[in-house]
Amino acid sequence: MSDRLIIVGGVAAGAKAAATAHRRNPAANILVLQEEADISYSSCGLPYHLAAPEDIPRRKLIARTAEAFRADGIDMRTRHHVEEIDAKRAIVTIRDLNSARTYAESYDKLLIATGAQASSLKAAVSPTAPPIVQLRTLADADHLSKRLTGIRKLVILGGGYIGLEMAETAKKLGLDVALVEMAPHVIPGFDEGVAQVVEAELRKHGVELFSGARVVELDGGLVVLDNGTSIPADLVLAATGVRPSTALATSAGVDLGATGAIAVSPQMETNVEHVYAAGDCVEARHVLTNRPVWMPLGDVANRQGRVAGINMAGGQATFPGVLGTAIFRVFELGVARTGLGLAEASAAGFLPVCETIQAPSRARYIRESKTLQLHLTVDQRSGKLLGCQAVGEDAVDKTIDILATAIWGNLTAADLFDLDLAYAPPFSPVLAPVQAAGEVLNKAISAIRQSGGAPMLSGVL
Ligand code: FAD
Ligand code: NAD
Repeated sequence: MSDRLIIVGGVAAGAKAAATAHRRNPAANILVLQEEADISYSSCGLPYHLAAPEDIPRRKLIARTAEAFRADGIDMRTRHHVEEIDAKRAIVTIRDLNSARTYAESYDKLLIATGAQASSLKAAVSPTAPPIVQLRTLADADHLSKRLTGIRKLVILGGGYIGLEMAETAKKLGLDVALVEMAPHVIPGFDEGVAQVVEAELRKHGVELFSGARVVELDGGLVVLDNGTSIPADLVLAATGVRPSTALATSAGVDLGATGAIAVSPQMETNVEHVYAAGDCVEARHVLTNRPVWMPLGDVANRQGRVAGINMAGGQATFPGVLGTAIFRVFELGVARTGLGLAEASAAGFLPVCETIQAPSRARYIRESKTLQLHLTVDQRSGKLLGCQAVGEDAVDKTIDILATAIWGNLTAADLFDLDLAYAPPFSPVLAPVQAAGEVLNKAISAIRQSGGAPMLSGVL
């Protein structure tokens, strides 16, 4: 008889693990317990669904329905909350949210794929405060889509990924948008030079920006900041970050790592026997630093879910780690990053050099060609490429993916110049931005080596 596999959480990591385990062993006895009514959907698509529900209707965000899972023999129970894991007896306690019944199920192997949850907002909220919403789930999007109609002014708290994607959505819906970011610039994980390009794009599209300010109070239809500014709001979207959902895991004796997310082996095993974890609730190894990092991203969750699914079904797979590659769009701009910036590289023991270059995305005479800005980090000693941040209206995705692949493959700045990339004017300049980057980085390293100089240069092509 097959092992009984129980999976807690059914969005990205959990759904992927269930489907993978089933594919690997169609006879596997798989039970998925999912608190939400929805399963296996694209959270990443929510801002685009809200902006254009006719083009991207709700159903298109659902990768696989509960019925499709059940047709494969996977026992998919939605609106079932796992209250407790008894790892000694290999039992989970479940509350059926439809009937309020509590019952237990036993497992041979368990996957914790409980994701992440919104950080709590630290502000005084009066009874006359404007309504506060969040965007984490498909149900949140259903709620938000109703709330966004018939209002004029949306205030977004948080200038990170969701805040910026939703600023674009709200402007597309014709709303007045104000965005509050507590850090001096939006996207605080990016270089200031990249953030400034993003802020100019926000202003160009009429988003009112309040950075370096924290919300202290929501009262009487106003969002009140610590610098004394009051912003009128019909609705407030809190997008102030997330934290891993680990309470269920820790109550079962599962160890957390240095980042506060669940520590797992490359096989996605926790410290508790027969208990695996994957997705936003776990930390991963950074491939360049070999240190744990928390990267709550959809592609990472899917790949980790796949690894967990294979291993739980008796196979052998490993998750190699992450480079921190990510991308988002705000209005016409693509913004992306991979690898390490200057400070992160220094902290990891590299001797980094940073270069900023601007290059055309296609042959200059092609109408669609736009300026692409790259912030590159390279190790002086080895010449190894360590990281890149990219911002521009064209070819950001292609460039960051080439550079992520180059870093993954341990390429040096010199190797970048030698890459045999595709060229025709409508697609690329004859010297692709990646090759231009290689040349500039090489020159920078040579100049430093000759002069014994300091690690911070900047070049414009
Ligand atoms: P989750 O998606 O959080 O799913 C976990 C599930 O487990 C939830 O349904 C939760 O209710 C359930 N659960 C938790 N505890 C229990 C319990 N005790 N019992 C039963 N069920 C439980 N990432 C990208 O890489 N690119 C993007 O463009 C991108 N865009 C995004 C846009 C938005 C608006 C949001 C919210 C996220 C976006 N992300 C993006 C992040 C990505 O969606 C997440 O990294 C991914 O969903 C994580 O998957 P997960 O399965 O680990 O967790
Ligand atoms: P985030 O971490 O990207 O951004 C949160 C922002 O809110 C930060 O800039 C932070 O400084 C700011 N902030 C925190 N408290 C604040 C306060 N009180 N007032 C004002 N600003 C405050 O988090 P998010 O936007 O909520 O997104 C959650 C996660 O979802 C992201 O970390 C990312 O991993 C994932 N995501 C990814 C994508 C993508 O890859 N395209 C898109 C959306 C979401």
